[in-house]
Amino acid sequence: MQHEDQEEFRDRIATVDEAGKRKWIYPKKPAGKFTNRRNWVSYILLAFLFVGPYLRIGGEPVLLIGVLERRFVILGQSFSQYDFYIFVIMMIIGVLFITLFTVVYGRLFCGWVCPQTIFMENVFRKIEYWIEGDYKHQLKLDRQEWNGEKLRKKALKHIIYLVISFAIANTFLAYLIGSEALIEIITDPPSEHVSGLIGIVVFTIAFYFVFSKLREQVCTTICPYGRLQSVLLDKNSIVVAYDHVRGESRARFRKNEDRKSEGKGDCIDCHQCVDVCPTGIDIRNGTQLECVNCTACIDVCNSMMDGVGMDRGLIRYASEHEINTGEKFRFTTRIKAYTGVLIILIGVLGVLISARTETDTALIRTRGVLYQKMDDGSYRNLYEYTIHNKTNDTLDLEFRAISPYVGRIEMIGAMLPAPPAGESAGSLFIYIQEDSIPSGRPKIEIGVYEKSTGRLVEDVKASFLSPKR
Ligand code: SF4
Ligand code: SF4
Repeated sequence: MQHEDQEEFRDRIATVDEAGKRKWIYPKKPAGKFTNRRNWVSYILLAFLFVGPYLRIGGEPVLLIGVLERRFVILGQSFSQYDFYIFVIMMIIGVLFITLFTVVYGRLFCGWVCPQTIFMENVFRKIEYWIEGDYKHQLKLDRQEWNGEKLRKKALKHIIYLVISFAIANTFLAYLIGSEALIEIITDPPSEHVSGLIGIVVFTIAFYFVFSKLREQVCTTICPYGRLQSVLLDKNSIVVAYDHVRGESRARFRKNEDRKSEGKGDCIDCHQCVDVCPTGIDIRNGTQLECVNCTACIDVCNSMMDGVGMDRGLIRYASEHEINTGEKFRFTTRIKAYTGVLIILIGVLGVLISARTETDTALIRTRGVLYQKMDDGSYRNLYEYTIHNKTNDTLDLEFRAISPYVGRIEMIGAMLPAPPAGESAGSLFIYIQEDSIPSGRPKIEIGVYEKSTGRLVEDVKASFLSPKR
């Protein structure tokens, strides 16, 4: 039950005051089991992020999002415009995945994996705690007149912020243009890479602005994923939740009191869960779209419960249904089914990616040209071929028959190697002995092989025309 004076949170978001001005959030430094776990996850993800552009799989980057050059590499596999269908399927699977994942697991992604949360809470905020102290010291420092101490602390903090923003900008650029191109920008004379250097400066300023000024506003007012919560979450979604059944009526703690007989709940109204929240909300008001599931309030509430000798878990990962019914969390059929669908979606994507070929070949009978009967009793058809090379290496290829009844393949002119992300095109004849031609309109299967290794790169099918019906 909310009292009228507790309904104020519905009027405006926690970071805006009555006059519509931004309220700066000074969250208390979190500590506890979940914070430690999140720290470790973020250190691992940060290590991957910064090392990622320099890691190679089969000579290719682990991830390259070359929007400018239309070159994409995922887990060492190159994608080009010929793989557009995979991107479309990836996007459909991505949307489905996000929807299903959020319906079941709420904003788990925001708290544990999102780069904004990781950088904000585990990098920039930590530097702030280190230089300016915990929330009360930060508040005091901001309110005090400018003096030597304030100048020194603020200058040091913002210089470190700029250095880290610069590092993030370089890494971000490395994912866009590749680590080799980034190293060239850094090592060559500046005059040779003016646009690249401008890019680094622009990204550095953007990241610095996001993490020093914008902060939680990215999650609470800008991020589209945050906006979607209200339609994706339902009463069974797992979220960071306050157990209002157990916690209400909230009342200050007094030693040796019998809270139950006095009609008091387990919430001792210590306000710690609000003090620690990086988005400034009171989780006791229920699930709110500003909550990024950072778990700070779980940790602090657990430590308060320990302090007063009550059970942990007043704030915990739980669904609204669990809290209202008192049921313990269990993997319901629904969660299992959704998780199963998520695993299948990932599997489908994995199969699609692993089944893609290095080339995309078109082998088409030349229009308007009929079959020819040869002196040796065979028939031949004229074809035009185009081989799109989807890799970043030159491919020296040749055609070989796969269908056993195909006699021979005769190239018209030399077959040129297909350059990286380019194509090789030309014409060829395919011969089949008359008595070997299958009846009907046979489909012939031709293999595209790598010359040097004899490896089958792709197989293509084409029709063959003859008087035989
Ligand atoms: S930290 Fe726990 S006990 Fe303290 S106000 Fe929040 S919910 Fe209540
Ligand atoms: S309510 Fe709790 S989990 Fe949500 S953002 Fe605030 S501290 Fe983090």
